Parts: sequence; structure tokens; C-alpha cells
Amino acid sequence: MEPTQGAGPGPSSTRLAWVCGACQRECIPIRAESRCLCGHRQREHDPEHGWRCKCGGCTCRAFFYIVAQGAWILRCRCKHKHTEHDPGSRACAKRGCTCAAFDSPWVCNCDHGWAEHRQVEVAEAPSSIGAMLAAAAAAELDAMQAVQRGGGSGANG
Ligand SMILES: [Zn+2]
Ligand SMILES: [Zn+2]
Ligand SMILES: [Zn+2]
Ligand SMILES: [Zn+2]
Ligand SMILES: [Zn+2]
Ligand SMILES: [Zn+2]
Repeated sequence: MEPTQGAGPGPSSTRLAWVCGACQRECIPIRAESRCLCGHRQREHDPEHGWRCKCGGCTCRAFFYIVAQGAWILRCRCKHKHTEHDPGSRACAKRGCTCAAFDSPWVCNCDHGWAEHRQVEVAEAPSSIGAMLAAAAAAELDAMQAVQRGGGSGANG
């Protein structure tokens, strides 16, 4: 049996994006092959049911994007892999580990830490001229902000 995607293009079509709260931009696009905290891919999660994992025996109730590059796997501050954390509570499942929630010391290309980023659900942009223009304008604005960037208010913490 093939899981066919024969449903018509509905207006409720959404996709997931991984954005930086400090930069307000999408740092890494989430693709169908992207990994979840549970270790399964995004396409193995059901968008119709809050992106819960469809794999049998998996307790993941909602896709939670985890950065991955080839064989490199994102680790938590507790030194354990993301797959060793509970997909529901995100607490470490390793016996004896006191880690209560997955948190990585990894720093993104944008120079902000992993924790500054969050996963959001955005409406799938319709392929229209208007959307293309908006994207182009946003890219231009982004470039301008990059130039003007400087100083900073890092007094928090
Ligand atoms: Zn950032
Ligand atoms: Zn899963
Ligand atoms: Zn999952
Ligand atoms: Zn941990
Ligand atoms: Zn741990
Ligand atoms: Zn980033």
C-alpha cells in the first residue's frame, strides 16, 4: 500500500519553519527528510493531527525539529543524543540523568544559540506573483538589516 497524497490543494495547507527569535528569520528550512526529536523524519508525522508521529510504538505527539547534518547528530547539554530524550516531555530518558528538557549548546550559523530558535507553523505560500514580490522585498530588507547590524543589547541574562 502506497501512502498517496491525492488530496486536493486545500487552503489549510501549512508547513513548518525553524526560525530564530533574535534574527526573526528562517535559519534552516524544514524538509520532509528533516529529523524530529523522536528520531523519525518529518514526513513520518501527520500534519492533520498536530504533526504527531505515525511510527508504531513512538510516543511522539508533535514533530519537534532537530538540526541534523549527515551523520552528525545534535546532542543535549547532558551529552546524550536527542533520540535519548522523551518526545513528549523532552526530558532525558537515560537512567540516572537529571536532564529535564532537551537543550543543546549548539550555535546556529546566525550566531545565536539553539534555544533562541523555535519551530513555527506557517501557511504554505501560494505560488503567486504577490508572494514572490513579498519574498524578494523581505530578502532585500534582510540584507539591509544585516548591514545595519551592530551594537547590541545583550544585557539580558
Ligand atoms: Zn539568530
Ligand atoms: Zn517518532
Ligand atoms: Zn516525532
Ligand atoms: Zn538532555
Ligand atoms: Zn541525558
Ligand atoms: Zn539561526
